[in-house]
Amino acid sequence: METFTVPTSRRTELVDISREVAAIVAESGVREGMAYVYCPHTTAAITINENADPTVKSDFLNHLAMLVPVSPEFRHAEGNSDSHIKSILTGACQPIPIAGGKLVLGTWQGVFFCEYDGPRRRRVHVKVLKG
Ligand code: ZN
Repeated sequence: METFTVPTSRRTELVDISREVAAIVAESGVREGMAYVYCPHTTAAITINENADPTVKSDFLNHLAMLVPVSPEFRHAEGNSDSHIKSILTGACQPIPIAGGKLVLGTWQGVFFCEYDGPRRRRVHVKVLKG
């Protein structure tokens, strides 16, 4: 398993990590298989979506904030329950097929690290499996 660090600079932010993941796949030498991109944090997540128009990222984060507002009913003492809920909704792991030694991503798709309680230094694990 390979690991890299993602420094984030805002409380909520989507960071394109496609290049880092692609480099790990290339270094693995695996031609056919799966790459599992995994985030070991409870207030962050991994997703795949459009990396062409940056307004997709801002629309997503703004709308997610409306779907999961900070609530006075939250009991979690750390005060970041909205971040935990966003992490649960987005998911900690994304499996991506590998074909011809490359990630199978659509023309407009990128792999994103989702920060929901930054800024922090985060880790991303990538497990490449042959098969
Ligand atoms: Zn918490």
